[in-house]
Amino acid sequence: MNTDTIAAIASGLTQSGIGIIRISGSDAVAVADRVFFMKNKKIADMPSHTIHYGSIRSGGEKIDEGIALIMLAPHSYTAENVVEIQCHGGPLVMRKTLQAVLQSGARLAEPGEFTKRAFLNGRIDLSQAEAVMDVIRAQNDFALHSSVSQLSGMLSEKIRKMRSEILYEVAHLEAALDDPEHLPLDGYSEHLADVLHQLIPEISELIRHAESSEKLSEGIRTVILGRPNAGKSSLLNCLLGEERAIVTDIAGTTRDTLEESIRLDGFSLRLVDTAGIRKTNNIVEKMGVSRAMQQAEDADLILYVVDSSSHLDENDKEIIHLLKGRKAIVLMNKSDLPPVIDRKQLMELTGQPVIAISAREGTGMEEFRQKAAELFDIGEIGKNDQIAVTSVRHREALADALHSLELVERSIDDQMPEDFYTIDLMDAYRSLGSIIGEEVGEDLINEIFRKFCMGK
Ligand code: GDP
Repeated sequence: MNTDTIAAIASGLTQSGIGIIRISGSDAVAVADRVFFMKNKKIADMPSHTIHYGSIRSGGEKIDEGIALIMLAPHSYTAENVVEIQCHGGPLVMRKTLQAVLQSGARLAEPGEFTKRAFLNGRIDLSQAEAVMDVIRAQNDFALHSSVSQLSGMLSEKIRKMRSEILYEVAHLEAALDDPEHLPLDGYSEHLADVLHQLIPEISELIRHAESSEKLSEGIRTVILGRPNAGKSSLLNCLLGEERAIVTDIAGTTRDTLEESIRLDGFSLRLVDTAGIRKTNNIVEKMGVSRAMQQAEDADLILYVVDSSSHLDENDKEIIHLLKGRKAIVLMNKSDLPPVIDRKQLMELTGQPVIAISAREGTGMEEFRQKAAELFDIGEIGKNDQIAVTSVRHREALADALHSLELVERSIDDQMPEDFYTIDLMDAYRSLGSIIGEEVGEDLINEIFRKFCMGK
């Protein structure tokens, strides 16, 4: 167990009300006592889970006043001794406090090292550790909800249950193969087939929703297509909820980000290439829809904006061709003007849901939101207690486990000898284990925690 003492600024390095310097390790208390001074008492003499007021000092200099929170092992975030010093939330005062802590015997923590210790010390498993970062990164309600449930161990619990069922069968098989006289395997294949008929659908169910869940949690990659003047920029403004002077801005350089996020009910759309939309709006540079169409190739959702007050043109035909077999919503824009396009006809032509909107007046947006939610099963996976797998790593491990269990199923069907089952059962057991951090190498663990932020 790594018990050297680490420290980092745990709050953001911007001006804020409070700044937190976290210290963890066997010397955390001693280090804190060299920096944090109270009247007639020392942190070392204080009980765990108490808070104390004092001054933060380095050499002869008083840096700030603040409070110290003491959380002794094993009842702390890292399961080690932890002291958190709270000072005022200024970048300089936080840096100076950290500096003093580092000069008093702690070393600077690597990104994610506190959480890595919580994992290595067995307080949380790997999927829970990963959930910590997901909670911090969550951009919408769905992402937050699913990562908090993963943090609480819902996914781990399910994985452990499935693993113990598999291990039970492996143990039984091996014992029986060792001692066939006392443990006959008559009828065992049928029993194992029953177990697999339970497990396989459970894993398949997790995988089935995983892809949608990943998209929901990261934001659905969305491209807005439509010929020049159909109203794409206006729609963008309408969805972003504020007028951003894009429509009239000829230079189109006001906000040149490539992606913007629109939060709908609990999930979000990540709009790709909104700069491209601005470009097509630029009267000097009306270059049609080709760039956006390229972006559409790997989008999850296409919003196709049609100007319903004028006839379809060549651009529209090209876009309609691209919509085949894709998740898309056709937005019949400018519905405040007299229509020349028929909604039913457009539905038949595109094979996609069509919603009448007016980007100028902001009508039809509720219907649009509902349709988007429907297309991505939000009702089904976002609002009940189902475990959402939102990590590619977890989905791949589940897929490996599923594959191994299907091989066992096939061996049973092919009436292979029983010792064939154990290899694939153990593979499934290991694949599931990698989700919670059993059977994983140091490289993968380092890789996972490297993506964490400082101080977590
Ligand atoms: P883009 O080229 O597809 O980005 O189209 P814009 O959003 O720049 O809109 C082109 C023109 O159509 C602008 O003059 C908008 O004011 C107008 N427009 C956009 N949406 C509507 C709408 O819902 N109703 C009406 N009447 N005009 C609209």
